[in-house]
Amino acid sequence: MSYDNNNIFAKILRGEIPCFKVYEDDDTLAFMDIMPQADGHALVIPKHPAVTLLELPADKAAKTLQTVQKVMAAQKSELGAKGVVLMQLNGEAAGQTVPHLHFHLIPAHVSELKRHAGEQGDMDKIKALAEKIRAAL
Ligand code: AMP
Repeated sequence: MSYDNNNIFAKILRGEIPCFKVYEDDDTLAFMDIMPQADGHALVIPKHPAVTLLELPADKAAKTLQTVQKVMAAQKSELGAKGVVLMQLNGEAAGQTVPHLHFHLIPAHVSELKRHAGEQGDMDKIKALAEKIRAAL
């Protein structure tokens, strides 16, 4: 699948659109989902321009999973999450709405998730949760 440089996460990576950042390094960025399926819903993305997991080189995949582990550990320690749902949609046919590869980290039981990309969350609450996660990273 060809990569669209104007997708919303590409704009976030270029700093053209704001986000509630929780972590960044040379290869990855982690920020809060603004339509959370549960409190503390975060996203981890590689900086590499991949639409789905199939386009991500293995070394970048390893870096991305390291960031997933860091953010998940912070969700557990800072938000008291007992469990975290890790979700990653590949292609529109799977329900992917943003065509830049991302991992969802949702601190909740899978049976309690709100609708995917359903409605905008409370921005003040999302900001406060981002600050808690960021503090641990
Ligand atoms: P997916 O459907 O797996 O591609 O997920 C895309 C996710 O990005 C959804 O959970 C949306 O709530 C989220 N999202 C869309 N726009 C933004 C944005 N500007 N900042 C943060 N999250 C976003």
